[in-house]
Amino acid sequence: MIKFLDLKQINQAYENDFGNKFRKFISNGFYINGKEVKQFENNFAKYCQTSFCIGTGNGLDAIRLIFEAYKILGKLKEGDEVLVPANTYIASFLGVSQAGLIPVPIDIHPDTLNINTELIPQSITSKTKAVMPVHLYGQTVDMDEIWKMAKVYNLLIIEDAAQAHGAKFGNKKAGNLGDAAAFSFYPTKNLGALGDAGAVTTNDEELAEIVRVLGNYGQRKKYISDYKGFNSRLDEIQAAFLNIKLPFLDYINSKRKEHAQFYLNNIQNPKIELPTTLFTADHVYHQFVIQVQGEREKFRKYLSDNEIETIIHYPLPAHRQKAYPEFDTVYAPATDYSMKRIVSIPIHEKLEKEELEFIVEKINKY
Ligand SMILES: *Cc1c(COP(=O)(O)O)cnc(C)c1O
Repeated sequence: MIKFLDLKQINQAYENDFGNKFRKFISNGFYINGKEVKQFENNFAKYCQTSFCIGTGNGLDAIRLIFEAYKILGKLKEGDEVLVPANTYIASFLGVSQAGLIPVPIDIHPDTLNINTELIPQSITSKTKAVMPVHLYGQTVDMDEIWKMAKVYNLLIIEDAAQAHGAKFGNKKAGNLGDAAAFSFYPTKNLGALGDAGAVTTNDEELAEIVRVLGNYGQRKKYISDYKGFNSRLDEIQAAFLNIKLPFLDYINSKRKEHAQFYLNNIQNPKIELPTTLFTADHVYHQFVIQVQGEREKFRKYLSDNEIETIIHYPLPAHRQKAYPEFDTVYAPATDYSMKRIVSIPIHEKLEKEELEFIVEKINKY
């Protein structure tokens, strides 16, 4: 069986280092906001080439905390609208909603499956104050267009970089392409912890400070709350695990890219459409998403009968979710169309050449 992703296999490579760190962690006695968190924040800021990184409890909170902080800074207020691609993980929408802002779904480009920047002008209202590019599946959004639109319409740019650790646009990295960015280190991400973890990156010192304070009960001084804050801190032990894995992120991404290139070179089947990358963008292949003509479930069953596991990212876009009845009238035909055709095939860094060849052979024979 070729599993879609085997987290045990992925993490076994670091098992000795994890074990040693864990023993030190226990005897150290600092379990919250210790030196591992500080070290990870410094390392990850350096990795993303940003001035600041603030650890958070998870990726959803990272998104929410950015918007909450902008409200405190007076740059956003309750009811302001944020443009969000219709095709994304639900957390992108929830992070906006939870902060009291209104996410506005924007249809995707049929080739990249990322936000269709051409639709931004017609979606602007007097309340539109921010845009959230989501580098979905690991491909950076066309930031040239986002930067242009943000300037014309005076929008804040908040990246959802939860699937794009290390992906570049030009000479800049995801996390450093807007005003602030949210990362997740959920175990399945390209850089994954062994539990929940997230971070905010930014070059804005004021914003960084407020995000940090908000995530720790709104306290600048212990027991003195300046804001109605949250408890969303990066766990010390997760930071310790991430410090071990971060030096391997570029290697992990290069393996994923190598596997993707193998698929791109060798999958040849008129019923299968391969993913497209903008020539100005970069893709770290958090997912390798193909599109299937005809009955998708038949294709998935065929692969599963051949011991190849697949997943759909995502079967139901935000505007079709019961959680968002207010989106019932949203028109996002490209999202609806691709949603019925997409299939994610295995792409993780531990795949062997024989497995890749086997997957290609089976897909070509379909
Ligand atoms: C994983 C993910 C998140 C949320 O991260 P959590 O750590 O699970 O809260 C947000 N946005 C996108 C695009 C994601 O893939």
